[in-house]
Amino acid sequence: MVTPIKDGLQRLKTQIRQIFCLVITCWLLVTLAQAQWSAYVRVAIIQDSASLNLKVNSFYEVLDSKTNKVLYKGKGLRTTVTAFKGGIVLGRINLNADKVLIKANDPEAIVINGRRFRGMFEFIKKDNLQLLVINHIELEDYIKGVLYNEASHYWPQEALKALAVACRTFALNQMQANKDKDFDVTSDIYSQVYGGKSSERYRTNKAVEKTQGLVLTYNGKIFPAYYHATCAGKTEDASILWNVDIAPLKGVNCGFCSDSPHYKWHAVLSSDEIREKLGNSGRNIKNIKDIVILARDTSGRIANLKIVSDEKEIEISAKDLRIILGPNIIRSTNFTAHVVSNDVVFEGLGWGHGVGMCQWGAYFMAKQGKGCEEILKYYYPGSNVETFRF
Ligand SMILES: [Zn+2]
Repeated sequence: MVTPIKDGLQRLKTQIRQIFCLVITCWLLVTLAQAQWSAYVRVAIIQDSASLNLKVNSFYEVLDSKTNKVLYKGKGLRTTVTAFKGGIVLGRINLNADKVLIKANDPEAIVINGRRFRGMFEFIKKDNLQLLVINHIELEDYIKGVLYNEASHYWPQEALKALAVACRTFALNQMQANKDKDFDVTSDIYSQVYGGKSSERYRTNKAVEKTQGLVLTYNGKIFPAYYHATCAGKTEDASILWNVDIAPLKGVNCGFCSDSPHYKWHAVLSSDEIREKLGNSGRNIKNIKDIVILARDTSGRIANLKIVSDEKEIEISAKDLRIILGPNIIRSTNFTAHVVSNDVVFEGLGWGHGVGMCQWGAYFMAKQGKGCEEILKYYYPGSNVETFRF
């Protein structure tokens, strides 16, 4: 026979066991979630610098990146970092190592040249005695440092979320492609513009948190989810520009970006400036009489053109000419060009390479009430949005 006291004790034991199991399950779930997102991306912040200013507002330690041996530790630091023949020097401390990693107790304590960053920093001495500076940062935190620079934090939340998924997918693709190199991405327009903790904002961080772990896949694989500011009517087939030929990057009609502030552009360059920049790239020409468009691709962008002088003609791809003259001056390869006395007048459409998501198109789609996934599937047809698992 079970007495009331024994019965009560039995129930209490069962309840304690249940609470204990619940706590363990929650702890396991949190740990697994954290483990899943503990991937670090390596962002090259500075690629060639003789010295830089470093500030650390907490306990820190400096390790040899090759051996993981602790070389130095302390609390609070305000100094310069330089490289010389014997290794890297922190203020007056010679670390006698070519690659060092600085870790701070406070994950937001490192300030490089006045800009605050999350994560750890690696300094690598290059052969030319310049420093390569790499921020090792958790992927989700990296996306937070990118989003504000690639769009405005006032944008509709669904457009910001779509951009966060594209940024995360692009970064993971670069991490896979560059795993044997010193870094995965740069912090400029050639990868994704990244400004560290200093460029985080509430609404862009919210878009990153709401899409945590979500990526684009095609046939179950991550792909380089390129994006650009404004396509001006049609996105570009990636296979025309780079060695990537998959359905989500073949180009789509975009009827959403006609009110973009970057729909049209105009640039005037002097013939002398063009001649000088062409010369720097090994293409010498004396005077510029005409610029003739030779072929446009199906999206309307120029494939190649020729620059005509009295004595010769130079044939060049529009993609190369844009890089030579400056990608922020010649904003796209969809343009006309006319020689007017000593100047060349360019009239163009759109901003960027045109591949993948048109950001201003995404902005106006979100304004019309379209959701993050709908936007992504429009610009990357055939792709899926799913949680990435390491
Ligand atoms: Zn567009």
